[in-house]
Amino acid sequence: MRNVIIIGSGCAGNTAAIYTARANLNPLVVMGHEPGGQLSITSLVENFPGFPEGIDGPVLVENMKKQAETFGAEYVYGVVEEAQLSSRPFRLKIDEEWRETRTLIIASGASARWLGLPSEQKLIGRGVSSCATCDGAFYRGRKVMVVGGGDSAMEEANFLTRFASEVTLVHRRKDFRASKIMLERARNNPKIKFLHSAVVDEIYDVSKNEVTGVRLRNLEDGRSWDQQVDGFFVAIGHIPNTKPFRGQIDLDPEGYIVSHGGARTNIPGVFHAGDVQDRIYRQAITASGAGCMAAIEAERFLEAEGH
Ligand code: NAP
Repeated sequence: MRNVIIIGSGCAGNTAAIYTARANLNPLVVMGHEPGGQLSITSLVENFPGFPEGIDGPVLVENMKKQAETFGAEYVYGVVEEAQLSSRPFRLKIDEEWRETRTLIIASGASARWLGLPSEQKLIGRGVSSCATCDGAFYRGRKVMVVGGGDSAMEEANFLTRFASEVTLVHRRKDFRASKIMLERARNNPKIKFLHSAVVDEIYDVSKNEVTGVRLRNLEDGRSWDQQVDGFFVAIGHIPNTKPFRGQIDLDPEGYIVSHGGARTNIPGVFHAGDVQDRIYRQAITASGAGCMAAIEAERFLEAEGH
């Protein structure tokens, strides 16, 4: 029986681990599908306080893990397949094994959203990617396309210009969701071409098992045309990782955990932290702050219960 199990090993989960470990609660961290979370596939993080020169995302998150382990946090590779939260202790099925815990911190984050085209799904890893940092270097001197109109799309497009000869950024509207500074940076980059009010209807060429181009459609006049590209990056947001908790804890229509104040869910003893609940800020520092809140609430809950 654990005092606390933390699901997820991104900024939120690692910070919750540091705090609960330091409070002698001997937390178990289940690392999930993407150990280290979104920072593990980021390049330079320039806005995490305390690093005036910036710090590499994977280094930052690994440092957090080491810090938690220093205080006794235990990490296991694995994914939560099923959860039973209707009675205490809570039960979690992790890689075929059931584990029990008095409190639970859900910090399972959010995963990349895809366009949903059959050709996109078939070409993932074969020229279609959701992570410029991971795959950008394959496109040295080549032409790539990025879809999306938020900060992620701007960041990915900018990053890709380090390698690619040309980056086309496709967005479905005229107005961009991205912050002014990120949008300006992309607009001022001579390698980035903007294509607004357009969508991608098809990615070629499934028969060749590689990306050779796309079919685009202008949403204002309905005109369709083909464009040659060698790589295709999707940056259209994320989907919260809450599948095992569906029907058990309050989720909003998009699957994000509904907060019941602070880090509380509707179930006493189950807390949320990070992008699995936060659809607004979604920053490394806010996720870390949320992990700290969840840890403090778990500690107080256990204390009130006499543990
Ligand atoms: P986002 O802000 O939700 O933007 C998603 C974009 O994808 C929107 O422009 C949306 O279009 C478009 N989109 C969604 N579904 C689509 C579809 N099926 N087909 C075509 N386009 C589609 O997501 P994000 O850019 O990943 O950013 C998430 C959060 O992280 C934001 O708060 C952002 O500020 C933050 N972030 C910050 C930084 C940074 O500061 N360094 C970097 C990355 C992300 P519509 O606009 O038409 O809805």
